[in-house]
Amino acid sequence: MEKILEVNNLHVTFTTYGGTVKAVRGVDFHLNKGETLAIVGESGCGKSVTSNAIMRLIPDPPGKISAGTIKFKGSDLTKASEKRMRSIRGVDISMIFQDPMTALNPTLTIGTQLMEGLRQHHKVTGEAARKKALEMMDLVGIPNPKERMKQYPHQFSGGMRQRIVIAIALICEPELLIADEPTTALDVTIQAQILELFERIQRATGVSIILITHDLGVVAKIADRIAVMYAGKIIETGTKRDIFYNPEHPYTQGLLKSVPRLDLQGEKLTPIDGTPPDLFSPPKGCPFTARCPFAMEVCDKVYPANSILSESHKVNCWLQDSRAKKLLAETAGSK
Ligand code: SF4
Ligand code: MG
Repeated sequence: MEKILEVNNLHVTFTTYGGTVKAVRGVDFHLNKGETLAIVGESGCGKSVTSNAIMRLIPDPPGKISAGTIKFKGSDLTKASEKRMRSIRGVDISMIFQDPMTALNPTLTIGTQLMEGLRQHHKVTGEAARKKALEMMDLVGIPNPKERMKQYPHQFSGGMRQRIVIAIALICEPELLIADEPTTALDVTIQAQILELFERIQRATGVSIILITHDLGVVAKIADRIAVMYAGKIIETGTKRDIFYNPEHPYTQGLLKSVPRLDLQGEKLTPIDGTPPDLFSPPKGCPFTARCPFAMEVCDKVYPANSILSESHKVNCWLQDSRAKKLLAETAGSK
């Protein structure tokens, strides 16, 4: 499979008066062409910072990509000039944020906003831009596009606004779409419709998608592969099947237990006790140690290596590392 994006050893820091926050600490992942990768984790785990880094939208200062590479179709975006990034953003890589209201300009018609991006980046006539805008409105399921083009954002419902934001993101036919909590601000029925829209768009255009979310329900619906983030690191990656049916990291297991499931009605949800570590001085070892029911002595001393469980499934946990088993056996034997 062709890889459209490859992120290696990405580190992002923010310098504050209180010290340096290590928001992203050595993240590795890739995205195949045409697939949807979900990056999942609690708020503050570094998932939005990771996606902003791909777009090179980390405000410097106080932020900084302090190490690593982000290869988009083979070329390293961490080394690209701002001019080159401006030609990539919205054209090759587009981003959608949580709140559709702030993403739209309240003083411009929807039609103007749709055509703006297209005319900025491509030499097209007004008529061609209008035609493309109508096509996009149709693609994202907005009825009466001709009339709706002339209206302003406040004349649309939240769900319809998010459809327009998606249409704007796709109008230049990007190869990569990054959606950061795209359905969080919407009610459940509209959420489902927007997720279906993503699937339909992917089938129609072949766009590759990175979906950033804290919501495993969203992930279950549309992800092909999942990367679970915790305290600035990716701690488990796998296919949807690996992660939902065979989660190996205790944090992933905890996340899954805290999600309501239709087939287990009446069962109590178990939230994960405790809070993630302070990223001003993250622990040397496994950052989940303080909350992990299986923590061993080695966990908080040494960061667990990446254990490869199958071609698709990888985890950073000492429970999956044979060297830890050996260590454990030795300590047990010496008692
Ligand atoms: Fe728990 Fe240790 Fe695995 Fe971390 S490495 S998740 S503390 S068992
Ligand atoms: Mg976020």
